[in-house]
Amino acid sequence: MLSFVYQMLPSRVVFGAGCLEKLPEEIQRLGATRALVLSTPEQRESGAVLAARLGLRAVGLFDRAAMHVPIETAQAAREEAKRLGADCCVAIGGGSTTGLAKAIALVSELPILAVPTTYAGSEMTPIWGLTEKGRKTTGRDARVLPKTVLYDPCLTVTMPALLSATSGMNSIAHCVEALYAQEANPIISMMAEDGIRALATSLPLVVKEPGNLEARSQALYGAWLGGIALGSVGMALHHKLCHTLGGSFNLPHAETHTVVLPHATAYNAPAAPEAMMRVARALGSQSAAGGLYDLAASLGAPLTLAALGMKAGDLDQAADIAVQNPYYNPRAITREGIRGLLQDAFAGRRP
Ligand code: NAD
Repeated sequence: MLSFVYQMLPSRVVFGAGCLEKLPEEIQRLGATRALVLSTPEQRESGAVLAARLGLRAVGLFDRAAMHVPIETAQAAREEAKRLGADCCVAIGGGSTTGLAKAIALVSELPILAVPTTYAGSEMTPIWGLTEKGRKTTGRDARVLPKTVLYDPCLTVTMPALLSATSGMNSIAHCVEALYAQEANPIISMMAEDGIRALATSLPLVVKEPGNLEARSQALYGAWLGGIALGSVGMALHHKLCHTLGGSFNLPHAETHTVVLPHATAYNAPAAPEAMMRVARALGSQSAAGGLYDLAASLGAPLTLAALGMKAGDLDQAADIAVQNPYYNPRAITREGIRGLLQDAFAGRRP
């Protein structure tokens, strides 16, 4: 019998090729007039073009967004927003840039307009992260959820093939874990399954023809659904493991998600048959875990933790850290089980 809680997250989404043109009216819609534009150094040019397009509505460009939001960068951006008298932030970029906007909103409540250029999904979540002295702290706060998100697939055509593949697999991971989440509910599960389908069918084409706008559009649509899934229900084993591997062993975010996902899925398969059926159906595969592995392989994405720089000698310590704090997972977490999972991911064995 159905029994669930469904909490909607309030945000406005504008989707479509060329929709970036609507940014000025979307800023106005929020009653804002002084936008601080944020980007990474690598996407400074995109930030500058955007700021120029906003004319007097842009009061500045802060181009120092960096992975995992170092506290020093967050503080510098907060001061810049204050100094310029900004009344909103426009974040153009991936999860790192959206993360910087969230760090500003956390202390100032400045509204965020997000313009995502990867498939990370942070723009749909109230989750913030800050890194201080090598330790990342995360939390949930309604103030950091972007008010408006403009998804323009034209901005994703420059995303390199490898980042497209791994960022897409990262988004699929949000969908997979949503299907067996403790708070799973019919609406989010519907979105999660469709997110996997949209990403799995479009990513092979995206990697082959990065300029294919139809494929880019489908992938971005899937990423939107993945973002909603991540923001709406709790994540489990897969996300905790990736957090451990990224935080303690400095492995790259999206690539780690790509390598671990088939193995975390295989681990949970016996305890979540309905979720596995839906993942496999969305992939058009016989098996959820095998289908995820085959998809990653077909995209030319890395398949082993070894390829990401993990040392065989660190696997024991990784297993120890991963079982330290208890959390919800459909299948009980055992040290032996996690050690085996890590070994398979290290070697890239097809589950
Ligand atoms: P990213 O934002 O770090 O971007 C990676 C690199 O690609 C950057 O140099 C960026 O400028 C560049 N780039 C981005 N889009 C591009 C494009 N279209 N064309 C060319 N270059 C482009 O990578 P990411 O994977 O989007 O984000 C990862 C970060 O986001 C991690 O810190 C992760 O923890 C965080 N994250 C947070 C949430 C959340 O809900 N809070 C969700 C997902 C990810």
